[in-house]
Amino acid sequence: MRFWGVRGSIPSPGPQTKRYGGNTPCVEVRCGDELLIFDLGSGARGLGDALAATRKPVKASIFISHYHYDHLQGLPFFGPMFSPANDVTLYGSPRDGKSLKQILAGQMVPPYFPVTAEDVFRTRLAYRDVIVGEDIPVGDATVRTLELNHPGGNVGYRVDFGGRSLVYATDVEHGTALDKGLFDFARGADALIYDSMYTEDEYRGRTGWGHSTWEAAVRAADASDVKQLVLFHHDPGRDDAAMDKLVRQVRKQRPEAIAAKEAMVLKL
Ligand SMILES: [Zn+2]
Ligand SMILES: [Zn+2]
Repeated sequence: MRFWGVRGSIPSPGPQTKRYGGNTPCVEVRCGDELLIFDLGSGARGLGDALAATRKPVKASIFISHYHYDHLQGLPFFGPMFSPANDVTLYGSPRDGKSLKQILAGQMVPPYFPVTAEDVFRTRLAYRDVIVGEDIPVGDATVRTLELNHPGGNVGYRVDFGGRSLVYATDVEHGTALDKGLFDFARGADALIYDSMYTEDEYRGRTGWGHSTWEAAVRAADASDVKQLVLFHHDPGRDDAAMDKLVRQVRKQRPEAIAAKEAMVLKL
């Protein structure tokens, strides 16, 4: 897998975030010939450019966790959407009686955006409403789905392929009855990508915003017995030096833990 965006809430580019990156969530996962993408935050633009540079048709399965701006703002700038040579399937959960297609269309309408999806997307495009809890086959990979505790709802995904597994659990607030379900869902995974936006101190002023802490990330990794903890959805205000410090703290408890960085590649 390759990380194209690791930052939470709002892009935070600049010299102070150069090493960890300032783009919002987008993760590329390769399972054999299959391309899976998790979220289309601002990092999706770079991924789209990289795919275009291969000059090959793109076949992609894109899983959207939820529809907050930071997970979707890259959609109108994701290059493969504009070529008829490509095949894109979008997966996401219906919310409040609206289908995935209706929700995504709502992002690209005046006065928020100059053109609509229908006007400009040229790829062969399928929208697939996810019934949370279902397993979705993608080639030889299986993508499992779980509801996470986040305002407005959010889907956690687990990919199993070739005896390896990863869990994408961003935007989750700890401390509810849903925690246990996530631990079971992530049980034994090779990598757990987990929302670690806050410290416990920061979290006290931000309960109900839908995010977790690095301390809760460590507890989740311990409880679900995962091999590697990957901190994710970094606070936009946490600069590179502060990120280094946070990682040092986490490693006192989980020596294998890493913080996701833009352009970082993880092989499982
Ligand atoms: Zn987010
Ligand atoms: Zn969110």
